[in-house]
Amino acid sequence: MRGRLVLAILLLWTLRADGAAPCAGDEAIEIVFFDVGQGDCALVKCPDGRRVLIDCGSNSSPRPDPKAIAAELKRHLDPNAPTIHVLAVTHPDQDHYNLAERVLEGVSVERILLPGPEDGVDEAIREYRAAGFNRWLERHRKAITCVGPDDEGGPASPSKLFGTGETRFTVLAADFRGGSKRSNFVTNSRSMVLKISYRRFDAILAGDATKETESHILERLRDAPEWLDVELLKLGHHGSYATSTQPAWMDRLKPEFAVASAGRDNRYGHPSRTVVERGQDYYLRVPPHAVRWATRSGTAGLVDVSYDRAFWNTGSSGTVRVVATGAREREARVILEPQKIEEVIAAGE
Ligand SMILES: [Zn+2]
Repeated sequence: MRGRLVLAILLLWTLRADGAAPCAGDEAIEIVFFDVGQGDCALVKCPDGRRVLIDCGSNSSPRPDPKAIAAELKRHLDPNAPTIHVLAVTHPDQDHYNLAERVLEGVSVERILLPGPEDGVDEAIREYRAAGFNRWLERHRKAITCVGPDDEGGPASPSKLFGTGETRFTVLAADFRGGSKRSNFVTNSRSMVLKISYRRFDAILAGDATKETESHILERLRDAPEWLDVELLKLGHHGSYATSTQPAWMDRLKPEFAVASAGRDNRYGHPSRTVVERGQDYYLRVPPHAVRWATRSGTAGLVDVSYDRAFWNTGSSGTVRVVATGAREREARVILEPQKIEEVIAAGE
């Protein structure tokens, strides 16, 4: 009985700094972090009905079933005319796009954003070879816009990228080329880093941004510290310690909620315990739940722990949905999949 009660409470798990419940019928923004294994795929459900998909790929082996992800995605789209109004691919690494073509079968995609210079659409398309995604992009050529440093927004040019209703999307960095010289991280540094704002709720989705990208953003917005203070952070590069989420970045963002999009038993040691704990002074307290992180790189170091802070890893929690009315700062609701909630209860008792 107690278990059922806890289950019912957790199904609509309300997290608010002041303990009050949001009013029914409030318009809310929702960000869905799909469990795609070792990769990224997040859907922003804007209150005006628009749908923005940020990345769609996975490096897991075996790869997750695109049909299952497509079915899950379609539950959040208009059943009569499933549409993604904007697809933003943060950078050309396949764990951020190789599922997109199959997942988006039967979905109309109106606009596509890729990092790159404004006149570089041809070159940009060529970068997405894995799973033949470049051919899909070629067919959608007219919808593609390349987003580069000139499109970066900030206090002086808010919402330069796009907005819909009361939701604003701002590019904090795109196609940044001053990053790490290690070839496998050059692409990560080019990640589009997006800030999403709805009323008083703000989120940053960092793609695989490196510390160099973070420093670039911190420097650009040095005189507007409040501008980077957000409620939610999707950790850069799946929670990697070696490349992303430097202390200064976390201290400026001060997220109350954080999500890592990393696969269960991934061989990269994501997310790193050090990175997760770097934000714990800012995360809200929540009922204990299972989080899988790595104490050292490699599968042997992956452990489940009971964690009482508002941090989730899709590799242990499954799909994570963050819902916010934006009526106040520091508040959101987190909804987990029912089968994974059992895991939360088990960890909490
Ligand atoms: Zn990645």
